Amino acid sequence: MNNNTITLRSGAKIPKLKKKDLESKRYLTRAMLSQMHLSPVGDPVAYDLNTDGSIIYYFDPARVKETPPELWYKDTAKPREEMTLESGTVIERMSVRRAASYGYYTEDRLHQMMYEVREEPVAYTYKGDKSILYLYDKKTAVRLPLNCIRCNKEVRYRRKLCRKCYEEEMAVLRAEGDEHRHAAYGMDPSRVLFFDLELTGVYDHDEIISISIVDGNEDLIMDTLIRPIHKKKWKRTEKIHGITPAMVQDAPTLAELTPKIKELFENADNLIAYGVSTDYSHIKYIYDTEAERNALHDKVRCCANEFVRFIHEHRPDVLHASLVDAMACFGIDWDGIPHSSVADTFACCRVWHKLFPRYYLGEENASLDVPSYPVPVHNLRHPAKNEEEAEEVYTSESEDEILV
Ligand SMILES: [Zn+2]
Repeated sequence: MNNNTITLRSGAKIPKLKKKDLESKRYLTRAMLSQMHLSPVGDPVAYDLNTDGSIIYYFDPARVKETPPELWYKDTAKPREEMTLESGTVIERMSVRRAASYGYYTEDRLHQMMYEVREEPVAYTYKGDKSILYLYDKKTAVRLPLNCIRCNKEVRYRRKLCRKCYEEEMAVLRAEGDEHRHAAYGMDPSRVLFFDLELTGVYDHDEIISISIVDGNEDLIMDTLIRPIHKKKWKRTEKIHGITPAMVQDAPTLAELTPKIKELFENADNLIAYGVSTDYSHIKYIYDTEAERNALHDKVRCCANEFVRFIHEHRPDVLHASLVDAMACFGIDWDGIPHSSVADTFACCRVWHKLFPRYYLGEENASLDVPSYPVPVHNLRHPAKNEEEAEEVYTSESEDEILV
């Protein structure tokens, strides 16, 4: 805000005009309009200042509407009661209820709604003790920063909490997360399998066209293309994984591979994938019964979920959580081409080990220092921007329905 313009909540900038300019443009104040039973439509177009610094808004008479007659007077045909402010502005007495129908509230009420008054009063009422209570227009009031939902003292920083409460909450979450990640699980690395499937698409009717399995020792257990039974082409996903119909025409079918896959799965304690839910929803069909599928589900772990939890607790600056992002975050080099089934499987295995440094037998005393690497700029959160967006969502106008 400089001396000659102010920015309204809508983002519109309006100029401060001199009396004679206001008159030559025939701009009118709300009070003048009200006397003609007119109400402004939309934003004011100019303003002037009172000696006390409060604002008088001026409206374009071409953009007004008639005030409904039921709002002209209180409830009966009583004549309007008016008072003149020091600025010369004439304001009308009205009930608090009627004022609320215009969007006029007391300064206290606006404060409760997190608004600060900037314009001079637009109406008034009497308190029980006959003292004057001024009413202000919410449309021209300034939105205040919202307070922390926990302490209600400080301005919000993230997740509706002030910086202090947010840091406290994060410290608790981080401690819980670290306990989970740093536990000694005593797993046998040969009984922990990492797997990755490539599919013709993401839907239920889509088919598996490759499977890669690596164990906790980073030994490649299976890596094969699979010939689908129904699908003849998959143009869209072909671009991602590079598997063409020609490449799979001599590959075994899933049915042919099922006994081997079942045997591997049965001898595993955990089955881990990066974004496991899609993989699970397709691989479960190698089993016929619900009980078998549930048994499989119990062994399944999601590396992506664990990475999301980790960055949430330790790297709130990191915005994306793809496998490529996870590799970058831990500074792990790729073996092979990202998005190829086998490279993704090794990658998942390595990310998991960074997340759970004491996962395997004999690692009870392994170092817990998880090195963190700068992430590419595209993957950084811009706190101010995101918080604003978050607050935008929160500051819906629904609370305004509450009457005084
Ligand atoms: Zn707080």
